[in-house]
Amino acid sequence: MLSKVKIFIDLHAQRHKLQTLVQQLNTANATLSKRAAHLEIANEVGQQITSILDLDELLTHIVRLVQAKFGYYCVSIWLMHEPQQELMAQAMAGPDAAVEVLANTIIPADTTPSIIAHTYRTRELYLAKEIASDSHFLFQESLPATCAELALPLDFEHKHRPLRGIVGVLDIQSAQPDAFDAEDVTALQTLANQISIAIRNAHLYNAERQRRTLAESLEETGRVLSASLDMHEVPGLVLERLAQVVPYERGAVLLREDAGDSRSAGDSAGNGFVHIIAQRGFPADQRADRLRVPIQKDDVFDQLSLTRRPLILDEVAQNPHWQQVDWLPVNHSWLGVPLMTKNRVVGMISLTRRAAAAFTQDDATLAAAFAGQASVALENARLYAEILRFNEELEDKVNERTASLQKAYEQLELLDQNKSDFIQVVSHELRTPLTLVQGYGQMLLRDPRAKEDKTYEQRLTGIVTGALRMREIVNSMLDMIRLENRTWKLDFQPLTLSLVLESLRRSLANSLEERNLKLNMELSETLPDIEADHEAMNKLFDHLLTNAIKYTPDGGWIIVTARILDTHEISSDEHMSVEIIISDTGIGIAPEVHDLIFTKFYTTGSVASHSTGKTKFKGGGPGLGLAIARGIVEAHGGRIWVESPGYDEATCPGSSFHIVLPLKQPEPMQINV
Ligand code: ADP
Repeated sequence: MLSKVKIFIDLHAQRHKLQTLVQQLNTANATLSKRAAHLEIANEVGQQITSILDLDELLTHIVRLVQAKFGYYCVSIWLMHEPQQELMAQAMAGPDAAVEVLANTIIPADTTPSIIAHTYRTRELYLAKEIASDSHFLFQESLPATCAELALPLDFEHKHRPLRGIVGVLDIQSAQPDAFDAEDVTALQTLANQISIAIRNAHLYNAERQRRTLAESLEETGRVLSASLDMHEVPGLVLERLAQVVPYERGAVLLREDAGDSRSAGDSAGNGFVHIIAQRGFPADQRADRLRVPIQKDDVFDQLSLTRRPLILDEVAQNPHWQQVDWLPVNHSWLGVPLMTKNRVVGMISLTRRAAAAFTQDDATLAAAFAGQASVALENARLYAEILRFNEELEDKVNERTASLQKAYEQLELLDQNKSDFIQVVSHELRTPLTLVQGYGQMLLRDPRAKEDKTYEQRLTGIVTGALRMREIVNSMLDMIRLENRTWKLDFQPLTLSLVLESLRRSLANSLEERNLKLNMELSETLPDIEADHEAMNKLFDHLLTNAIKYTPDGGWIIVTARILDTHEISSDEHMSVEIIISDTGIGIAPEVHDLIFTKFYTTGSVASHSTGKTKFKGGGPGLGLAIARGIVEAHGGRIWVESPGYDEATCPGSSFHIVLPLKQPEPMQINV
């Protein structure tokens, strides 16, 4: 009996042991499967973090996973929205009614009671085992069954930026009282860390994406802006491009009216205006394009001018210096960025949004980057417009000047014509009386009574010589007129140059002797005849030889050379030509008048100092000799020029007159004097 009782007791003890063992086994199993679930979640979250870059999608995935695996009542993630300091339900998994009501709910960070806000503020994990007795618990009608709540800060605390780490809260509510054991807490803490990393990655990714978008957009904007130099187009392009990176409802580019007096930091507010040069999103009102706002001390433009940095107003009404344009609907947020040229604030980009506090620091940074581009483009466009204006002004001035020059030229032509007409009339009128004077003078000279009285004869000779000289001058004037009017009918005949020159030597023999000058003719014996007008050639060389005599002091030399020009010495459009050079040992000619001496009536020295004799040293004359010479040479299709080291009466450097004449006359030539 005793042994039976003993066996029974043993059996009972063993069953109890077995039951305990089974119980322990179950607990261990439960713990193991919970751990497995924790590991599974940790593993999955880890994988998702690297594969899902869209933060909203990732957070929604995580809350659903945690809720499904552990069967929690409600799992939610709340993220902080600066600068309002509000926590917003970013992702939520739980009863449908709760998700519907609470999705996108906002809890200000200073809300009490609220376990979520409390956790955010303290940055510490908070576990409410029994919500009934918890002072921080905030009852939500849509979550009536909550018994316990665990909130974990989402905090990627960084050693170097300790205060900037916290981004939100992971909140888990359970319908079981005391639902979270230490192991749960540890596992969920790990999960919170993973979520924090995911959020940080997403932020980094977004920031990087934003940076890339900005860089691309800036590059694109730079290209578009630099392609346009139109002052009317550039500001509009800036606003259009800016809208793609910084959303705004109304935008404007305004310029300071007198950009030149843009104030530097520390100055007192300079009065003046900013006026609109481009706008986007303004009401269809004509006033929009003419908007002009006075600059007042401490107003937004004044602030921008002082700080040279972007300025954000979260609520324009709160800024005591805000100037609301009365016909514009109030937009609560304002972002302004300065436009700088050569370190001066010359204007601003002004953006507004209807909602309050709508612009972020990132927006300001983006807008500032655009403003930099815009400033350069605006400055380029301004300079270009200035150049265009300058060009137009220049063109107007040139046209004006050309018109007045044309007028002056026409007047000169008229004067010249009048002069020629006058000379022509005078010459014709003088010729006949002069012939009479000369004729009667010669008759009287031949009278035997004249021979008897030497004084009388001398006086008569003076009259005849004077009349002769006057006739020569009048004839020169008429030659000039004939050449100018192209009425000198040249008779081109074969002409032997040496004969013309020799005959002239004979007629000038007296003068040469009188002045003790030697005339050397070094003419090539093989010199062929040229086709020329005899009278014209005679006059040409007479003028040149007379000049050589006139401007060479007594005892000097005159040398005449003539030769056929080699083919390499003549230009492609010239025919076979002879060159005649008349050189003297005279006073020479200053290089600056080498061209001038061939214009009519040009003489060096004052007319009053001219000696009256035709071949007297520096005898002077009417200034027609060389003009006639050039007219004759050109009428023969030739060229004439002078070479002389300079004018010097003491050293007498001499002059050489070169005449190139074609052997043949191909066609009738134009006469230009
Ligand atoms: P004119 O001899 O009547 O003054 P020309 O037309 O013949 O007018 O000459 C113009 C000017 O050229 C002269 O006044 C003189 O100054 C200068 N000139 C011409 N030939 C010579 C020369 N052989 N040597 C120096 N000067 C000369």
